[in-house]
This record gives sequence, C-alpha cells and structure tokens, in this order.
Amino acid sequence: MNVQNNQSYQVKKHKSNVGNSIIATVGGSAAVAPLLIVSKGVKNFTLNIGNSLSPDKVEILHNAAENALKRTGLSDKGVKINYLVKTLQDLFLPKLVAAMNPIQQIKNGKNAGCCLKDIKNPLTGEIIYKKGTILMPQKAIPHAAFHEIGHSLNLHFSKLGVFLQKFRNLGFTAASLIALFGAFTSNSREDKNSDKLTPLQKTKNFVRDNAGKLAFAVTIPTLVEEAMATVKGQKLANTLLSQDLAKHVSKCNKLAYLTYISTSLMLGLSAYFTVKIKNHLTAKNSDK
Ligand SMILES: [Zn+2]
Repeated sequence: MNVQNNQSYQVKKHKSNVGNSIIATVGGSAAVAPLLIVSKGVKNFTLNIGNSLSPDKVEILHNAAENALKRTGLSDKGVKINYLVKTLQDLFLPKLVAAMNPIQQIKNGKNAGCCLKDIKNPLTGEIIYKKGTILMPQKAIPHAAFHEIGHSLNLHFSKLGVFLQKFRNLGFTAASLIALFGAFTSNSREDKNSDKLTPLQKTKNFVRDNAGKLAFAVTIPTLVEEAMATVKGQKLANTLLSQDLAKHVSKCNKLAYLTYISTSLMLGLSAYFTVKIKNHLTAKNSDK
C-alpha cells in the first residue's frame, strides 16, 4: 500500500515538473510578444519604403545590381541574380505554407535571399541555384539586392564571412535549445549535508543563470555577418547609384538590420524569461 502511494506521488510530482517546463517555455515566448509586434511593424515599414520607388528607378537599381556582380568578380564565379515570379501553382498554396516557405516569401515580395550552398532538386540531384545565387522578388524591394550581393561576396571572397555563415542555423538552433534546457532543468543547490556541486552541476547552473546572455551571444556571429553584408552592399550602392538612390538603399537596409537585432534580442529575452518563470514555479512547488 505504501509503495503504491509512493509511486503515485512520484508520478504526480514528475507530471507537474513537465507541466512547469511547458508553462515556462510558452511563457518565455509569450513574454517577448511586444517586441515581436514592434519588429513586425519595423518590417512592414521597411517594405513600404522599399516599394515606394517608381518603376524606372526600380529598373535603375536592378541594372546597378547587375553591374555590381561584374565589378566585384561575382559574375566570374557564376553568380546571378534570379528574379522569382509567381507561378499558377503558387496561387493555390495555403497562406500558412506561403508564409513559412522562404522561396514563397521572396515570390511574395517580403524578402530576398542569397543561397549559401548549391540548391539541388531533391529528386534529380540537379543544381537549381548555384551557391552565391541571389534570389529577388520580381519588382519588390529592389534595394535588398545590394545586401544580398554583400552575402555573396562574404561567401566567395571572405574566409571570415564563410566562417560566420556556418554559425547561422547553428546559432538560432542553439539559442532555442538553451531556452528549452532552462525550461526542462532546475538549478542544483548545495545541500548542507552533501558535498559541493559537481562540475556538471556547476555548468548546468551557469547555463541556466546566464541563459539570456548565452542565447543572445550565439546569434552574434550572424549579426556580424549581416552587418558585413550590409556594409559591402552599401559601398557598391554608393559607387553605382545616384546619391538619392544610394540613400534609399542605405535607409532600407539599416531598417532591415534592426529586425535582425530584434530577432537576436527576442531569442535572448525569451531564454531569460523561460528560466525566470521555471525558477519561480520550482520555488513555489518546493514551498508547498
Ligand atoms: Zn542578410
């Protein structure tokens, strides 16, 4: 009888811990919702300014971007700018799929991109886009080509750029994992009767106590690479465009950079709040 009672107690306690971990994870994400709204506002503002040019000016930007490829030697590397057009099939995609898919986002004029590796057809293995290729919407946000050329320059001509680009997915994954780790663990405390903490427990405590800073820190390589891309692209814009248009490119790309910073901040703050919420719930449970 006693054993059974003990077991059910154990199960209950375990369940409530998982519950706390989930509450902490959800709460940590929800805590940064205001920043997400601000970031979306900045993104929409950038898109509006980016799409404010007349068609002849858009053409000037497109031509200057082509010239930039020749001038920098990217053309010799086989780099091209592909302007993506919506196909009939794209029109029937569910909204959520279109919002999540990076290629669809470009086709919808919400983003641009640079292929950091060869993009192959998964069925035939044939290369669709060579590494360094720049993907742009057909007419929208023409300023973005210069930032993307900056990424392609990093990829083809900068060892530091390539090194930093490798951190891109790794950094964002690590930031999320730090938050999850914080949610699903608790700090080990030195017990009066037991020995001091083991190195593993100390490491765990360190990660949990500094989760926010660590989650932000792992995204810094990406922030640096994005800044390098913007600066390199702007140098080209300044040489190839009139002062007015170069200013337009600069303004749009600076605004876009704000959204990268806010993404990093959100990952850091979310990890910070996740741990705080979990610690609060753990303390409340142990009081009972
Ligand atoms: Zn970028």
